[in-house]
Amino acid sequence: MSDAKIIDGKAFAAKLRERVAGEVARLVSDHGIKPNLTVILVGEDPASQVYVRNKGTQTEEAGMTSVTHKLDASTPEAALLELIESLNDDPACHGILVQLPLPDHIDESKVLAAIDPDKDVDGFHVINVGRLWTGQSALVPCTPYGCLMMLKEHFGGKLSGKRALVLGRSNIVGKPMAALLLAESCTVSIAHSRTEDLPERCREADILVAAVGRPEMVRGDWVKPGAVVIDVGINRVPAPEKGEGKTRLVGDVNFAEAAGNASAITPVPGGVGPMTIACLLRNTVVAACMQNGIDAPDI
Ligand code: NDP
Repeated sequence: MSDAKIIDGKAFAAKLRERVAGEVARLVSDHGIKPNLTVILVGEDPASQVYVRNKGTQTEEAGMTSVTHKLDASTPEAALLELIESLNDDPACHGILVQLPLPDHIDESKVLAAIDPDKDVDGFHVINVGRLWTGQSALVPCTPYGCLMMLKEHFGGKLSGKRALVLGRSNIVGKPMAALLLAESCTVSIAHSRTEDLPERCREADILVAAVGRPEMVRGDWVKPGAVVIDVGINRVPAPEKGEGKTRLVGDVNFAEAAGNASAITPVPGGVGPMTIACLLRNTVVAACMQNGIDAPDI
């Protein structure tokens, strides 16, 4: 392994949460506004329950109000839409997040479309997608925004002209990541399951963002010497070395190999993961400012 710099997402997220808490304190003292993040969880998915609990804890730690609506898995779509409508109309609620995935009988796109775009702290509403791609002020999906923040810090803000390859084209990571890098004047390619000569395309990139959901798919020789690698993947794989039935988390990048070529790389865990909730808190503060005609802080 080379001496690639390890980009410490955990430390970065802690600093971002501190800045968010500072802005929350300012909003409360100067404007009497306590940002409120409301999360809706439908059903009992264990991973979703953990995420929602973590979101609630971190929201409160930042000095904001956290509200969680836990709905039964059999909740009709109409009832969920009604709840979203009432939150849209509630001035005390600044951010609405519907935890995905939703049960099969509920149409995800209909639900996301029902959220007021100005309260859409996940940044998934088509209005926010359109604003992002057209360079307007938008609420931006948290995971790619977290990646961008780490890249900007690493490059001292100078991303312009860099060749970036985003591996993955999902609406929640790949596409918004590409839009954000384009807005920073990177030369952006998006690769996916139909891309030809994938290792070669990856080797052309100064910035390689992997979001494929395939354990350690990106090998060391896919990484251009000196490139910066952001690994979004979170994959649980068997870890017999830790004992029978044990598992461990790995990214979409073979970390040990890629660190041999990269100049900097995010680890899994401890890289992109912790940034996602921190960016959600940031988005909630931005949303609260937008809704109250206050200039959003640059955090
Ligand atoms: P999706 O499954 O929605 O998208 C995966 C993308 O990878 C698709 O565009 C797919 O291409 C592409 N892909 C899949 N297999 C290959 C392959 N063999 N070669 C090239 N491209 C391939 O995943 P998400 O974007 O939701 O998530 C990606 C990863 O990021 C997952 O590991 C997920 O757990 C993680 N994640 C982490 C978050 C965090 O907080 N750190 C938040 C969100 C996700 P195609 O479109 O052609 O099918």
